[in-house]
Amino acid sequence: VEAQLRQAQKLDAVGQLAGGVAHDFNNLLTVIDGYAALLMARADEASSRDLTMIREAATRAGALTRQLLAFSQTQATEVRVVNVVGLVTGLEEMLHRLIREDIELVVTTAVPSLPVRADPGQLEQVIVNLAVNARDAMPGGGILTIATDHVDVGHELAIQLGGQPGDYALITVADTGDGMSAEVAARIFEPFFTTKEQGKGTGLGMSTVYGIVAQADGHIRVDSAPGRGTVVEVHLPITTAPPVDIPAQPMPQELATG
Ligand code: ADP
Repeated sequence: VEAQLRQAQKLDAVGQLAGGVAHDFNNLLTVIDGYAALLMARADEASSRDLTMIREAATRAGALTRQLLAFSQTQATEVRVVNVVGLVTGLEEMLHRLIREDIELVVTTAVPSLPVRADPGQLEQVIVNLAVNARDAMPGGGILTIATDHVDVGHELAIQLGGQPGDYALITVADTGDGMSAEVAARIFEPFFTTKEQGKGTGLGMSTVYGIVAQADGHIRVDSAPGRGTVVEVHLPITTAPPVDIPAQPMPQELATG
């Protein structure tokens, strides 16, 4: 509990910092890209190549700041009753586009309805972030499985998960990829921790997932071993309120500037 609290406080501080900086930074990037585009219109071939590099870097930096903004906005939530099953199946088409052709996507649903109280946009972000990591862990192809189920969490499991016994929606995201060493697995929820090469990873995916799931009173369990793939289990408490199907939203969330 102590460690969870420290993690939550760390996330909160990073979130506030990130949100404040990211917004201004994004505006400056728009200026950089805008002037580079203007210059390109009257540049020779060699300069044009250099300017393309500048614009590509600005685009990458823009993607990073958007992630920072999304991360900091795990604070501002719009909580509703969401059917996890509908949400996951609604994402299937987008997930197909997100992964590569050498990865097989298997989506299974054990029950028709899993109502939880959460921000649907954030819940989508959880699944997308987990799917991106699964994809990146399978450079040579593999199988990405996303399964939803209903679990009755007893006292024993509740202690393991660090939560209360009761009815939970279980979202399992499993890959047949590279897996993680115990050292890496211990650090994945740390903001900015990444093992991906520069420009590929931000190290914010899993800390965002952690923040969103914690906010919905849920729990995450990660089971991984090098060469054996990774299984991420997200438990979210079921609500007794009637489910409302929410259509999938476009990802990533585009954020207004200005
Ligand atoms: P990023 O994806 O930008 O690196 P994350 O916070 O999402 O940031 O993940 C942190 C690190 O956790 C990754 O760099 C990777 O080493 C590890 N990781 C996360 N998910 C998986 C997975 N499914 N398989 C293997 N490693 C993973």
